[in-house]
Amino acid sequence: MIVDDLHEVQENVLNACKRANRNPDEVTLIAVSKTKPVSMLEEVYADGVRDFGENKVQELCDKYEVLPKDIRWHMIGHLQRNKVKYLIGKTCLIHSVDSVRLAETIEHEAAKKDTIMSILIEVNVAQEDSKFGLHVEEVMEMVETISKMPHIRIEGLMTIAPFVDDAEENRTIFRQLKQLSVDIGSKNMNNVNMNVLSMGMSGDYQVAIEEGATLVRVGTSIFGRRNYQV
Ligand SMILES: *Cc1c(COP(=O)(O)O)cnc(C)c1O
Repeated sequence: MIVDDLHEVQENVLNACKRANRNPDEVTLIAVSKTKPVSMLEEVYADGVRDFGENKVQELCDKYEVLPKDIRWHMIGHLQRNKVKYLIGKTCLIHSVDSVRLAETIEHEAAKKDTIMSILIEVNVAQEDSKFGLHVEEVMEMVETISKMPHIRIEGLMTIAPFVDDAEENRTIFRQLKQLSVDIGSKNMNNVNMNVLSMGMSGDYQVAIEEGATLVRVGTSIFGRRNYQV
């Protein structure tokens, strides 16, 4: 059943690409597996999924240990600086960088491991108080600062759009993030790519793709609702 739901999401991704005249190769579906047991991840892995998203360092590391090593683990949740050291080498992309201090810690830990860490800058486009992420006006300066850190590569931007009943309500949010990435990309800064746009979740990933998402983070529509009591 999980695989049926997965296929439905994949079909929706393809259709959104078609509507937007986009090459489906440009869009990667991340299966957001937080709180879900390893057995469920194995089901979608067996069906070909290789990109998984987790929002807690401990859970990501535990799953990393027991699942195949060709999985690309995406860290999508708010990240505490004291946990960064456990992540380097295990995650392919940290989506949630929203401060210079966090970036400094990533720089320090990546340097220790002699590696370069790919990150996205998290932008709170809708300026919701309940959410992490920079306001749009703050992003350019932070990108400039972080771009000087040799063990970090900025690959693009991420946003978590508001929960809405109608995904259309988030279209302008996605459009704004895309525009910001174009503006930053046009500065041609060293160490900065704006190739990745991580936006869109179960409720709105199709609209996000129409507006330029390259990574969509889908949990509930694949794995079902999460039970936070367990
Ligand atoms: C949980 C989570 C998702 C997935 O949300 P669904 O609505 O279950 O698809 C996406 N992005 C982030 C940052 C999350 O924490």
